[in-house]
Amino acid sequence: MKKIFLTLIVSILGLTHVTSFAQQKSSLHAHVHGQAQLQLAIDESQAVLSFSSPLDNFLGFERAPKDEAEREKVKQLLLQLQNPLLWIELSAAAQCQVGQIELDSPVITGKQKTNDEKKHGDMRFDVELQCKNPQHLRSLKAKLLQQYKGIDRLKVEVVHAGGQHTKTLQADEISMTW
Ligand SMILES: [Zn+2]
Repeated sequence: MKKIFLTLIVSILGLTHVTSFAQQKSSLHAHVHGQAQLQLAIDESQAVLSFSSPLDNFLGFERAPKDEAEREKVKQLLLQLQNPLLWIELSAAAQCQVGQIELDSPVITGKQKTNDEKKHGDMRFDVELQCKNPQHLRSLKAKLLQQYKGIDRLKVEVVHAGGQHTKTLQADEISMTW
């Protein structure tokens, strides 16, 4: 029953093109426990939020869940992922809404076939945002740094027509403006 439930959520999220996304991101991120990366690319009418993190930061493990408690952790994480703007709060004036979400994490999507304890696992996702006023998209708050103690540092990169900005955020400094 639980498995069916997870599969259902994954299909609601519309998680497609996982392979191409993984290939695209592989050169950009490093797997360091306690660290995560966020990229926000803003263009004229939309923005794309790309996030990657070791699974350990969220779950405390990086393999398929072993028991009911671990399955529950994965389920809760999946539910959180349905609204990424609760993790990353964007300028309200920009009026952005979440469009398609592409999640790449075999452990979370239930596609993990082997359970090698030595292997590391990531969670990566891309979120398409439709913004009424993208020109007002000038700040973000990485609330997930206060929600998940497993993440010490979030490296943020913002790319827009005006340039490129980078900042490393931590639990005591979650805001960034550009
Ligand atoms: Zn790891």
